[in-house]
Amino acid sequence: MFVDIRPDTLNLDETKIGDAITQKTKAIVPVHYAGVSCEMDEIMAIAARNSLAVVEDAAQGVMSSYRGKMLGSIGDFGAYSFHETKNIISGEGGSLLVNREESLNDAEIIREKGTDRSQFLRGERDKYSWQDHGSSYLPGELIAAFLWGQMRRADEITSMRMEAWERYDELLGPLKASLDCQTPTIPAHVQHNAHMYYVILPRGVDRDSVLKYMREQKVGAIFHYVPLHSAPAGRRFGRQSGELENTDDLASRIVRLPLWCGISESQQCYVVDSLKAAINAD
Ligand SMILES: *Cc1c(COP(=O)(O)O)cnc(C)c1O
Repeated sequence: MFVDIRPDTLNLDETKIGDAITQKTKAIVPVHYAGVSCEMDEIMAIAARNSLAVVEDAAQGVMSSYRGKMLGSIGDFGAYSFHETKNIISGEGGSLLVNREESLNDAEIIREKGTDRSQFLRGERDKYSWQDHGSSYLPGELIAAFLWGQMRRADEITSMRMEAWERYDELLGPLKASLDCQTPTIPAHVQHNAHMYYVILPRGVDRDSVLKYMREQKVGAIFHYVPLHSAPAGRRFGRQSGELENTDDLASRIVRLPLWCGISESQQCYVVDSLKAAINAD
């Protein structure tokens, strides 16, 4: 069941979760958009009151935290992505954080093609065999080695991204009012990881024309994502709780600015100039 998002952080609106819970609900899945944490205290309290599991989609939230706790480590489970589009990468890949002891064994079995081979390798079994559902979710050594290199430099990568993120924020700060744009909100109790810098265009400005204008100036501005409830699979498998008006509205106005480790100040000024010209041209 999809629930609407908050207009400030674009994260799941925790005040609307209650209405979405039915007899069949098993878990709450908060997505930490742009590596900015959802309101986890409230979400964990709702889950406890209703005996639900919490599965954090922390795909974008590696190295981010909420009141000092790393994202992915707060719910019953958390998922990280190491896809090439994320902060810490191995090309393709990801990990499941299992935060409750009693599920660890099941997770190992699912990862090992449905077998108890992990226990066998630790010497806890004299042979291994098929126990349950599963697939082959282990990374190969080359990918693991690449990821290890990234993890060792995770602080450095995060601070380089943060520098670029802060610079966009400084460049756009004085322009925000005149362009009538919204920029990211980071709550005081949240530490983010500079995964993404985005701008919400004013109502009435055509996003496609803005993106086209920027691309013509060789700026790789994009939008993400088509909201799941309106995607073909979302319409087929999902349902929605109440109106998803913030989701529809903000998804139609968001523009992500290019951000990578080592983007230069002059490149960022060029991006902001191009955005400004694109909005004024529309
Ligand atoms: C990237 C991403 C995923 C998927 O990650 P994969 O590693 O490609 O499986 C899921 N959720 C969010 C929010 C993401 O940004």
